[in-house]
Amino acid sequence: MQKINEISILSGKGGTGKTSLAAALATLQKNTVVADCDVDAANLYLILEPEDYRTEKYISGHKAVINYDICIQCGLCKEYCRFNAIERMTEPDYPKGKITIVETSCDGCWLCSRICSVNAIDMAPCDKSYWSTGNYQYGKMIHARLAPGEENSGKLVNVVREQARITAKESGAQNIIIDGPPGTGCAAIASITGADKVVVVTEPTGTGLHDMKRILELAGRFQVKKYVVINKSDLNPDMTDCIRSWCEKEDIPVIGNLPFDPRMVHAMVACKSITEWAPGSEISTVIKEIHRFLSRVQKT
Ligand code: SF4
Ligand code: SF4
Repeated sequence: MQKINEISILSGKGGTGKTSLAAALATLQKNTVVADCDVDAANLYLILEPEDYRTEKYISGHKAVINYDICIQCGLCKEYCRFNAIERMTEPDYPKGKITIVETSCDGCWLCSRICSVNAIDMAPCDKSYWSTGNYQYGKMIHARLAPGEENSGKLVNVVREQARITAKESGAQNIIIDGPPGTGCAAIASITGADKVVVVTEPTGTGLHDMKRILELAGRFQVKKYVVINKSDLNPDMTDCIRSWCEKEDIPVIGNLPFDPRMVHAMVACKSITEWAPGSEISTVIKEIHRFLSRVQKT
């Protein structure tokens, strides 16, 4: 069976050009599957504009809900909640205060629902999050949206990745491009797990170097090939050299120096990748070289 090549595009922080690079790689080859794993702020679909959607709800957890027809206001649940998610709120009809769940603090641990002697607490599913799959011009895309305040972003990333693998097998796609979340949280970990390659996009600043090191350190705990792309590399050649030297010392190939090009932003505004918007530009040429390199490595 054909091996599917999973390439995770990551960055230590937001705004480094990670999604722009992912969009460009996603529009350079037909029959690609794209997994947007930035589930807290998915935006790659705005560029790729997938159609023919199928959307599924994602149950991110549960929240406690009190049935006041049954509750006897004993306060036992408040006593035992470790997350301080149960309060006595001032209410005219409740002289001692009304036992109330603070939804934003509830961790969904189920403890209160189990200890309530009159079974007055139900656990309601959090079902405002979803994942979607659709077709875009060059293949298929899976993306997701974690509703504000809901948790388990790592698990939702796993769902997106699993759907991407199923889709790639069904469509015979060789590549899955993963647009990972910025940072080093559980969603980033879930975006690295099981990937073949990680491409970290950074910028030539002190913060860029620091954040790049953190995400590469995280990726170093996994069996994955690591690469670096320096965006806006010409804006600070000294820092670009500094990043390159560090990567050389760590034996991590820098596979592209992208020049600053305001058309990156123009392309995003026009819902195009830079390689579609300005195919003859220097930046597009470098991205095509990166794409060729990643395809070559895939075959070796
Ligand atoms: S333990 Fe049950 S009955 Fe007691 S206050 Fe909590 S919800 Fe109400
Ligand atoms: S489910 Fe857990 S966190 Fe939520 S209110 Fe009950 S005891 Fe507290």
